[in-house]
Amino acid sequence: MSPAQGTRQKITGKITLAKKLAGELKNEVKSLKDLSLKLTSWQTDDTSTLLVALLASVVFLEASDLHLEAQEQDARLRVRIDGMLQDTALLSLKTYGALLSRIKLLSGIKLNVSDRPQDGRFTFVLEESLPIEIRVSSLPSEHGESLVLRILNPKSLKTIKDLGLRKNLLLLFQEEIKKPNGMILVTGPTGSGKTTTLYAFLKSVQKPEIKIVTIEDPIEYHLEGISQTQVAPKEYTFASGLRAIVRQDPDVILVGEIRDQETAGIALQAALTGHLVFSTLHTNDAAGTIARLLSLGANPINVSAALSLIIAQRLIRKVCTACAKTRTATLLELKTIQEGLKDLAKELIPKIPSTLKLIEPQGCAACNNTGYRGRVGIFEAIVADDALETFVSKSPSIGELRAYAQKAGMVSMYQDGLFKVLEKTTTLKEIERVTTE
Ligand SMILES: [Zn+2]
Repeated sequence: MSPAQGTRQKITGKITLAKKLAGELKNEVKSLKDLSLKLTSWQTDDTSTLLVALLASVVFLEASDLHLEAQEQDARLRVRIDGMLQDTALLSLKTYGALLSRIKLLSGIKLNVSDRPQDGRFTFVLEESLPIEIRVSSLPSEHGESLVLRILNPKSLKTIKDLGLRKNLLLLFQEEIKKPNGMILVTGPTGSGKTTTLYAFLKSVQKPEIKIVTIEDPIEYHLEGISQTQVAPKEYTFASGLRAIVRQDPDVILVGEIRDQETAGIALQAALTGHLVFSTLHTNDAAGTIARLLSLGANPINVSAALSLIIAQRLIRKVCTACAKTRTATLLELKTIQEGLKDLAKELIPKIPSTLKLIEPQGCAACNNTGYRGRVGIFEAIVADDALETFVSKSPSIGELRAYAQKAGMVSMYQDGLFKVLEKTTTLKEIERVTTE
């Protein structure tokens, strides 16, 4: 199958939110608590309106997922905001049943099947120009099906400038993605913002004179002017798809994920033969990336020659500016920050006063009482230069690579996080939560 044909999953249903209701909801649902109260009154309404109002509300609250879980006596509704699941409401089993059927119907999931996982998607039109795709998955559980709705709001796509990059990293990334060939890898666990970063890179390099083709599993956001294809079991895998894509003479290729030797081999080859290749790997840090590629059976010479940049990242929550307070850092906090930064090059270590002020989350309606609102990335990056090439050809261990990267001046994700603590964007607690999990 040619990538031009694509294997894009068919979008089944489409629901639209009336402008009047949108306006009302925007005014009335400003927190999860508002939503919870509203849901009690909506439960008597017709299911179509209930679903539309529920979806619109969670979109306004900037949620990424909505979970509907059947329990013995009722059903639990939870939403994920800034990476954290939050209990929102309990629904009657009758309301749950009605919502379940409505969502399954819309997303093309078989209504009469409830004993095995299924998935589908539908479109939610809040604004005509920016339809939101909702990816639905169902899972059989003890008391009935559990549904998860992934909300793919194009508004959550970011530009390279909004990712939260330190100035020197922003300049470095902008430089590297301009190169005509080579491989740029972004690594981190699921939910660490890898796709958002790669999409930001694509948007940044996109212009009419170049051809960009992607192979993803699944396509998360549809990007204008970019040929996106989606893997399909057996017929269109990352490896076979990538082979077909290379024959389409692209300038830039995005491979959703490298997880097997064959894909690694083709992607490296593409990067060595005049293509700019973006991809992701599941590793904990930048140093682990090379080791992972080698363990997949990739040739060390190809790896070091093809790679141009390795990035690792996590997402941290920003302290809600509507309710935050500042306070003087404790001695322990001062020591933690100083210790964390002490191995950096002298010119990078900031002067830290003994009266250092830190930001302290509180909690208000705007942040659903969590004290945090919105997220931003913390990053570390290794530039693959000649010195690294020589080093990698000796098949070093992860520990050796990490030591090498630090010596070469890499600021680690943790250290990047400490800078964001000093800038009063976030807290030490949040950096520790994210970097030690
Ligand atoms: Zn707040």
